[in-house]
Amino acid sequence: MPVSRRFGSATLIALTDGEGPFFEPRSTAFPRVTAELWRRADEYDPGTVSADGQWWLRFRCFAIRFDDGRVVMVDAGIGPAEAPARAWAPVPGRLPDELAAAGIDPAEVDTVVLTHLHTDHVGWAVTGGAPHFANARYVVQDAELAAVRAANPELAAYLLDPLAATGQLHVVEGDRQLTPGVRVVATPGHTPGHQSVLLQEGGKRVLLTGDLLVHPVQLIDPAQPYAHEVYPETARVSRETLLRDLAARPSAVLATPHLTDPFITLGAPTEPAT
Ligand SMILES: [Zn+2]
Repeated sequence: MPVSRRFGSATLIALTDGEGPFFEPRSTAFPRVTAELWRRADEYDPGTVSADGQWWLRFRCFAIRFDDGRVVMVDAGIGPAEAPARAWAPVPGRLPDELAAAGIDPAEVDTVVLTHLHTDHVGWAVTGGAPHFANARYVVQDAELAAVRAANPELAAYLLDPLAATGQLHVVEGDRQLTPGVRVVATPGHTPGHQSVLLQEGGKRVLLTGDLLVHPVQLIDPAQPYAHEVYPETARVSRETLLRDLAARPSAVLATPHLTDPFITLGAPTEPAT
């Protein structure tokens, strides 16, 4: 069964599509991390390093299911065998089985937030040339759309054209309330139009980070750049700002795609998910 947590009238469900090693040495991916910081990160989250010293990452997305029937997806994993992530990620993913185990029919999903359009976050968005979530609006930042259309026409044709053709592409600019309890927050840097999702339910704040941070080194030291950030300085400011705001609240929670535990309570040591 997928791991979940309850917040007010919402259940936040972590859906793991796959896991595997990163395609380059972690010293290349995080060029400024010192030996001491690696030691702290590996102690904090031992699951992110393999026995032979590679970065081992989860590829996870999330579903938010409200008691009134609304279902919001945040990201769409690495995808099936033929998905664009096949170049580097361990496809096929198992999201359909994860959703079934959580009792979610793709047809009942009303909103899919794509935090950004990297291939390990959009894999199941479109399958067989059609939107996988047939009744959902797909929420993408305008800046992200423009960047992908300009830089990656092949991905745009694979992903964005089918969503536009069915009228399911929902383009937003900046912060926006999507539905009661769920807000997108612009967190640019990792990509030009990166966004995170803030769930506010039951007096709690949960930030579904997307790739605002991709590794525990960026949680321990938010100033650490990641080599694949499009605008590292912007990414740093987005990360530091959001983490500082959240840390000022009692027991805010992070939900991350790539760390070992899907949920991290800020200000507390990592705890096993229930
Ligand atoms: Zn990612």
